[in-house]
Amino acid sequence: MLGAQVALRDQKSEAAKHVSVFVLIDALGWKYIQGQDFLNDILPHRQSLRTVLGFSSGAIPAMLTGVPPAVNGHWNLFYYDPQGSPFRWLKPFLFLPDWLLDQRVTRKLLKETGRCLLGLGPLFECCVSPRLLPYFNWVERRNIYDRGGITGAPSIFDELHQSGVPFRVYTYHHLTDAEILEHAEKDIRERAASFYFLYLSEMDMFLHMNCDAPEKIHERLRWYDRELRKVFAAAQCSCDDVTFAISSDHGMTRVTEKYDLLMHLEKLSLRMPKDYLAVFDSTMARFWFFNEGARKEILSILEQVPCGRVLSDDELKRFGVFFSDRRFGEIVFLLHPGWLLSRSDFNGSSWKPIGMHGYHPDDPYSDGVFLSNRMPSEPLRSVQDVHQWMLDAAQCKAT
Ligand SMILES: [Zn+2]
Repeated sequence: MLGAQVALRDQKSEAAKHVSVFVLIDALGWKYIQGQDFLNDILPHRQSLRTVLGFSSGAIPAMLTGVPPAVNGHWNLFYYDPQGSPFRWLKPFLFLPDWLLDQRVTRKLLKETGRCLLGLGPLFECCVSPRLLPYFNWVERRNIYDRGGITGAPSIFDELHQSGVPFRVYTYHHLTDAEILEHAEKDIRERAASFYFLYLSEMDMFLHMNCDAPEKIHERLRWYDRELRKVFAAAQCSCDDVTFAISSDHGMTRVTEKYDLLMHLEKLSLRMPKDYLAVFDSTMARFWFFNEGARKEILSILEQVPCGRVLSDDELKRFGVFFSDRRFGEIVFLLHPGWLLSRSDFNGSSWKPIGMHGYHPDDPYSDGVFLSNRMPSEPLRSVQDVHQWMLDAAQCKAT
């Protein structure tokens, strides 16, 4: 049984007049494809795509729904929600000392509790200190590739189902990229559906660790080229009318410098959660304040940090990530491209990436890709626009 595979119509669609294959390759940046020979002959329509500010947790739901995080509700993974936190019950245990509460085993236990008992889904990670967990909720409670998986808007999968388009989805739950490509090729040959969505996740980690090694990247791209050609050929065998596209959610920027923001905050007399809360993503720090003094002190520190800046409400609105209840942060501090927080909630001490994403969408290395055998009927600018392309392709409107 394929992990997270959705087969809404098991009957074979022999009558399918059209087959669409959409492949999402996580982190395949335009800069790594531009000028390279990568499926150029079969996918002649090629362009960069602007990413959504944030990480895959915001960019992929935007791609699946066609609306920004502020509308679909999916941006970063943790958001402030003390009333709705699935970890409210932890509060009576917060008197325990850090050496007990904030150790590896406790975090692992909480991760498993979140995943298995609290319904937070198989991807839940205990990324913030257990001491702070009772203040936060987790966005991806459902599998975003399932129907109804995105909280605030219907996704392409809801829409395909509603239109009666037979489709299949392949994601990384229990499957490697090679296994996904193999399963999809087989299903396409057997005409199992008319729309196929393949999510290949391994490029992300590969580029995090190797984005400065052109030969390794070349070799890796050759592998995808070879395997994806097999999938394309299977689609051509099963149907005369094939629409095929590869896209990505963001790119990968080389990390050149690190910055220890926590060092400055630890020197203050302010304490979490009494005075403020903060979540440190790799390239972003998000803050909530419980008194004006804390806000002032932390803002004055952030204003002096040379490698990043506080995003204005206007910018957050322009990026589609402004939430009036400030659940994702009263203040969002973003590092400049190429910088990385040396200590953050999402990196263990052994995690030393040489590439990172989650920078300002203007950073050219953050651009994703769109490669297809058909011109989109409407111009595509951002990863969010790919949703309309998928809808058109499923209904055979791409030109
Ligand atoms: Zn990544």
